[in-house]
Amino acid sequence: MKRGIIHLYKIDILFLDREFEHDVYELIKAFYPEAEIHTLYDEAEAGEYDLRFRVEREDETYKISYDRRENVTAGFTERKGVASADVIGEDKLTVKDPHALRKENKDALKYALYQLLVKLTGRTLPWGNLTGIRPAKLAMGMIESGMKNTEAAREMREKYLVSPEKTALAVTIANREREILKDIDYENGYSLYIGIPFCPSICLYCSFSSYPLKVWEKRTDEYVEALCKEIRETAFLMQGRKLDTIYIGGGTPTTLLPHQLRKLLDTLGEAFGYEGLAEFTIEAGRPDSITREKLQAIREYPVTRISVNPQTMNQETLDLIGRRHTVEQTREAFYLARELGYDNINMDLIVGLPGEDISMVERTLEQIQELAPDSMTVHSLAVKRAARLNIFKEKYQEMSFENNQEIMDLTMKTAYEMGMGPYYLYRQKNMKGNFENVGYAKVDKAGIYNILIMEEKQPIIALGAGGSSKLVFDHGKRIERVENVKDVSNYISRIDEMIQRKRTAVDKWL
Ligand code: SF4
Repeated sequence: MKRGIIHLYKIDILFLDREFEHDVYELIKAFYPEAEIHTLYDEAEAGEYDLRFRVEREDETYKISYDRRENVTAGFTERKGVASADVIGEDKLTVKDPHALRKENKDALKYALYQLLVKLTGRTLPWGNLTGIRPAKLAMGMIESGMKNTEAAREMREKYLVSPEKTALAVTIANREREILKDIDYENGYSLYIGIPFCPSICLYCSFSSYPLKVWEKRTDEYVEALCKEIRETAFLMQGRKLDTIYIGGGTPTTLLPHQLRKLLDTLGEAFGYEGLAEFTIEAGRPDSITREKLQAIREYPVTRISVNPQTMNQETLDLIGRRHTVEQTREAFYLARELGYDNINMDLIVGLPGEDISMVERTLEQIQELAPDSMTVHSLAVKRAARLNIFKEKYQEMSFENNQEIMDLTMKTAYEMGMGPYYLYRQKNMKGNFENVGYAKVDKAGIYNILIMEEKQPIIALGAGGSSKLVFDHGKRIERVENVKDVSNYISRIDEMIQRKRTAVDKWL
C-alpha cells in the first residue's frame, strides 16, 4: 500500500489573485500527489470537487480558504478553513529590491498555506514548504550572504518548516559544494554537456530524450557527424572562455560504437582542448551497452569519471522496468572498468521502484557495497507525465511504489559505510514520498558538473538532440535557456539552425 498518500480526489484551485499561482499549485500538489487538480480563474467555472481552494488578495492580506466536501454515505459533510498572510509593502523592506519584496511575500504566503495544509491532511512534508528543486542552493545562498551554518539552519527550519534531518542535509551539502567549487571561475568559465540520445531499450520510468538504438542504428554515424559540427562551431563561439567540465550523458553514450566514440572524443579534444579541465565525465550508464572495446577507446582520452548504473540489483525489478540487462552484466561492467584502470566510478540507484520494499533496497545496497564504487547517486522515483510507467498506470495499479524515510536513511548509512558523504542534492516534481535525489562521493570523487548544474553559477552549453543550454546572467540572478530540438532526425537535418540559435544566445550573453 502507498503510505502517506492521499487518494483520488478532485481538487479545484480558484485563483482570484494569480501572483503566486505556480507556488500555491505546487505546494498543494505536494500534499495531494495523486489528486486531479484543476485551476480556475472565475467563480462561475466551478464544477464537481472534493476539495476547493480559493486564493485571493484583500487589500493588505493574501487569503486562502478551503471548502472540503465529504461524501459520508450519501449525505455531504462540508468543512471549511482559512489561512491568511499579510502583504508586505515596500515600506517594510530595508532594501528596495522588487525581487526581494516578491520573495518575502511569496514566503509569507507559502508559510500560511503550509500550516493550513498540515491541519487539513494531518501530515507534514520533509522539505516543509519548499517547492523548488534546489534546496541546497537556498542554503548556499544564505551562507554566501554571510550567515553562519546555525543561522541558515534555523531559517530553514523556522521560515521554510524543513525537517531537522533535511535541514542538516542541505546545510552539509551547501558547505561541501562551496569547498569543491572554490577554484571554479564562475565569471569566465563554463561547462559542456553532450547528449547521446540512444539507449539499448527504453526504461519504463524514463522521461529523458532517449530513443531505442535499434530504431536509429543506421543513422548514428550521421548523428555523430552533426554533433561534431555543433562541437566545432561551439568551440569557436566560446573562444577565450575557460572550459571547466565536460559531461557526456544521454541517453546512453556507450551505445555508440568504438570508432564513433573516438571520432567524438577526437573532435572534442581538437576543438576545445583537454588541458585544464577540472572534470570529464562519460556516463557509460546501461551495463548492456558497455564492452571492453568501448571502455578501452574511452581510456585513450583524459576522461576522469564514468558511471555504471545498476538502478537496482534485483533482477525481477530490472525485468519489470524494461532495462533488459542482468544484475550480472552490471557486475561484469563494473569489474571490467576497474580492470581497465577507471578509478572514479559512479553508480546510480533508484528507490521507490515498483514492487521494491526496504528489504529489496537493502539487497541492492549490500551488492553495491561489495562492488565499492567511488560515488553513488540515489534517486527517488519520479514519474513524469510522459513516462511509460504513467501511460501504463493501470497495469501497475496493484503494485506498491514504496519510499520512506527509513529507506532514505538506509541509503545514507550505506554511503557513509562506503566512506562517502553527501555532496549534491536536488528534488523533482512527482517524486515518490516527496523526498530528494542525493549524490554521495568519497572525499575527492564528487561530480563537479553535478554541482554546477544545480547551483546555476556558470553557463552550461548543451550540445546534441534535446540539449538545453543555460546561460547565466547577473551573477546567477537570471537564467536564459536555449534549446535544441529533441527529435534526432530534426536535429540532424536542422543542425545549422541549432548552431545559429546558440550563436544568437551566446552573443547576447557575451
Ligand atoms: S537508461 Fe536512462 S536515458 Fe536510457 S531509457 Fe533508461 S532511464 Fe532513459
